[in-house]
Amino acid sequence: MGVFGGAFDPPHLGHRALAQAALAQLQLDALCIIPTGQAWHKARDLTPALHRLAMAELAFAGLEGVTVDPRETRRPGASYTVDTLRELRSEHPQAQLFLILGQDQAQALTSWHRWEEIPQLAIICVADRAGFPGGEGAFDALLPAVPNARRLEMPPVDVSATDIRQHLANHQSVAPLVFEPVARYIALHHLYQTA
Ligand code: ATP
Repeated sequence: MGVFGGAFDPPHLGHRALAQAALAQLQLDALCIIPTGQAWHKARDLTPALHRLAMAELAFAGLEGVTVDPRETRRPGASYTVDTLRELRSEHPQAQLFLILGQDQAQALTSWHRWEEIPQLAIICVADRAGFPGGEGAFDALLPAVPNARRLEMPPVDVSATDIRQHLANHQSVAPLVFEPVARYIALHHLYQTA
């Protein structure tokens, strides 16, 4: 079972490509998309969970085995990946968990709350991220701490949610950066109108 967390504020084509890569390369029968609640490492206020959950449903629609899991958005206070993995492990004791990360998050992993427990709960799978320095070096740097980390191949998709919010605040089109139903949802709900 794959576990792919993120703010998804908004979810974009980089996220979808990473989910597709994980499904194909890890032969996953299930992939849980887990939008964060109060992400302790993001300084900015996130868009209300209701919208991020709805956009995630649209962004990953049609990918077999993918479900959007609201558990972190329902947790009061700070939300930690290690707690989510522990919950999933007790709910699915037979399943091998795979934690899916982009390179920037993988670089930060050893600063996460109780990070040492994470490799015992899940195989960590890292995808390169276009536009972030360090590529292969960043993956190699993780290996001493997480020797069983795996690399995911994906075509570079040079987009971030930050870029998208900026484009929208400047009234620029985000059509090439997000899945079309997400673009429609953003327009319908007038999201990200200010920087
Ligand atoms: P922000 O710009 O607000 O920081 P983001 O685009 O990084 O957002 P997140 O929701 O924080 O999006 O990312 C969730 C996960 O997806 C992280 O593990 C991140 O590394 C990965 N990810 C996001 N965009 C890409 C991309 N373009 N290519 C590969 N991985 C990505």
